[in-house]
Amino acid sequence: MTETDLIKFFEPRSVAVIGASNIIGKWGFTLPLNILTGGYRGKLFLINPKEKVVLGMRAFPDLQSVPGEIDLAVLTIPAERVEESVRLCGQRGIPFALVISSDFAEAGKEGEERERRLVRTARESGVRIVGPNTMGYFSSSSRLTAMGIIINPTRGNLGLVTQSGNLGQQLMNRGKEEGIGISRFVGSGNEADLTSTDFIEFLGRDPETRVIALYLEGIKDGRRFFEVARKVSREKPIIVLKTGKTEVGARVARSHSGAVVNDAGVAATAFRQSGIIEVGTTDEVIDVARALLHLPVPAGNRVGIMTMGGGWGVVTTEICVREGLRIPELPEELKKHFDSLLPPFWSRGNPVDLVGTPRRRLQFEVMEKMAQVPEFDFLLVMGVITGAMFTYWDLLKRFFISFFNFAGNHFWAALSFYPSVFRKSRASLRKSRKERKNRPAKKTGGIDLREIKDFNDELLARRIQGMMGKYRKPMIAISGVKNQLLELTKEFDLVVYDTPERGAKVGARMAEYGVFRHKDSRDDKVAIDPERVSRVRNLIPEFPGLVPERVAKEILALYGIPVTREKLAGSPEEAVQAARGIGYPVALKVESPQVVHKTEAGGVKLGLDSDQAVIEGFRNIIRSVGQYDPHAQISGILVQEMARGGVEVFAGVSRDPSFGPVLAFGLGGIFVEILKDISLRLPPVGPEEALAMVTALRGFPLLAGARGRAKADITKAVEILTRLSTLSLELEGLVSEVDINPLMLFGEGQGGLAVDARMIRAD
Ligand code: ADP
Ligand code: MG
Repeated sequence: MTETDLIKFFEPRSVAVIGASNIIGKWGFTLPLNILTGGYRGKLFLINPKEKVVLGMRAFPDLQSVPGEIDLAVLTIPAERVEESVRLCGQRGIPFALVISSDFAEAGKEGEERERRLVRTARESGVRIVGPNTMGYFSSSSRLTAMGIIINPTRGNLGLVTQSGNLGQQLMNRGKEEGIGISRFVGSGNEADLTSTDFIEFLGRDPETRVIALYLEGIKDGRRFFEVARKVSREKPIIVLKTGKTEVGARVARSHSGAVVNDAGVAATAFRQSGIIEVGTTDEVIDVARALLHLPVPAGNRVGIMTMGGGWGVVTTEICVREGLRIPELPEELKKHFDSLLPPFWSRGNPVDLVGTPRRRLQFEVMEKMAQVPEFDFLLVMGVITGAMFTYWDLLKRFFISFFNFAGNHFWAALSFYPSVFRKSRASLRKSRKERKNRPAKKTGGIDLREIKDFNDELLARRIQGMMGKYRKPMIAISGVKNQLLELTKEFDLVVYDTPERGAKVGARMAEYGVFRHKDSRDDKVAIDPERVSRVRNLIPEFPGLVPERVAKEILALYGIPVTREKLAGSPEEAVQAARGIGYPVALKVESPQVVHKTEAGGVKLGLDSDQAVIEGFRNIIRSVGQYDPHAQISGILVQEMARGGVEVFAGVSRDPSFGPVLAFGLGGIFVEILKDISLRLPPVGPEEALAMVTALRGFPLLAGARGRAKADITKAVEILTRLSTLSLELEGLVSEVDINPLMLFGEGQGGLAVDARMIRAD
């Protein structure tokens, strides 16, 4: 399929609504009404065979009677009539149909069949479908609100795609409150034809869009999704909220948008590898989107924390660590410098605790100095934005409030000393004003009245903005009075969160994205070797199914993966010949298309060290396998070199129905079966990613030489994984599964060996 030019969909010059209606409450009523009131810049045609006038406009009986070209048809008619209508769109040369109608794949067997027919008809007619079962879409550049809900998004730079229109609506409403404007919104519905991936691809090139956010229930075209997302997120961040990960969630999603169910582990690795920012809640979608729309992307995950209070700093530090952020030490010179500025009991480290110092200029200075530290990729700034504007008037107001509170209970006492408090304060204010120029600033104690005009959040916002521009580092503010500051933060490119949890989480997600953006993308390229593929074709059995261990290893060897020396023997005598050639001791293994797990069938003998042992082993295997499965055809017995003194791990490739080939690595035994300690990655996997795969295992210390064990050859494991990665892509469609189990890893620098290999030829 050629790349769709979705620009005609997002900026149609003319729209026809099929099923437009005069009845309030019908989709055919609300949707065109929204288009009209939204200020759509193109032509709108309403189609209704029974009415002359709809919504005060002339109605057309059918598509044929509409003059001129139509770029988009919106269908708000019953499901049974959609297919025919799409056929007519095709005849009329309409490239896109937005199918609002539901009762398709989300509604069981009959609906699934209806959806299949619809897609077939659409293909034949050359019409691309958005939906069915969608709430519609919004495109800011055309001021087109083709939605069945009354909502008027503000224009902005967030591109939003949701498989649930309703969730899209919630996000747009929440976003509006927080000053997030929308460039394009699509409720992609059942994604029978055009999918989220197509929209991501479009939004990636769309100049109106700077940040992309998705709500996904299921990903149908996982591999393409992965490839597109990986490319787009190099330029623009993509935030994903994915559901359908729990069993119940998956069931609900299926009946909601007819979504396919994705393996949670595979989807998660696809997101991570493609730089997608995965979040767990709708709140986080909004929080992270806001930060990405306003702040620069950090270069890494090292955070500097500035706080007004100790406890706050401790809490934040712990959250940061839990979220995978690093908290570097404060450079020694900076400590010395801060000693000269701050009260003697400041924290002398990161977090920098200002111990409540309400001195604005000092706060600015600390902030700026921290922004300059090369070890900090971004800053969390807590409690500096207060929401309180400390003007003289403000102070006076406070004075009177405290007076009346006090006087309510102790009237005479208040009268006796408050006037003197007032007098003294005023005198001190005058004096300090006079001395402003010739006295150095105080280090501690209360607000310095001379700085009172700095206590203005607008000034602070401007300063922070200036520093972010200068040092290209995000500064995330945390303040208890976020809501009061919303207007301010909308005006200045600032983000303020009300709790350290939210701020730190946003920082962590941005940092992960920053790390991805700064990573070398050379790993991403793969060159297919057609000559090698044809050699594999010559080796592999003609029919789909299990490939013999011996052949599987020959194929692995073509990819540079070290395998055991071995030979197939048809008789005990041949086996002895082979064993002498290989050198004792040897292993014997049955070769049979019916035996998948050889040990289980009594088909493996290990460590045989004489002619006699080989002869006996040969006969024993034939007997055991015969008992295990009387119908098993035995093509011979494999005589194999013994691998000694290594750690057994496994490495393999499996196939996900949506995401295609998936690489797996792990330690054997209980680590897989009980602890499910497996690393997954989608190919291509380069050395860096492969190493991450190995070190991510919980059992990794066992390979790294924990408790006096010998260190395993991790470099070899990494190399083998990258080679499997090449194999998985090169042989896609030919080989569906590879399982090297065990892969024997020897000591550092001594390599590894594929001891057993199971491979499945695809059909
Ligand atoms: P299967 O997995 O089909 O039962 P394997 O070939 O993996 O058969 O053999 C079972 C086990 O025997 C392996 O996990 C490994 O521990 C051991 N083994 C098999 N072949 C060798 C060999 N050549 N050298 C050392 N150990 C071996
Ligand atoms: Mg095995």
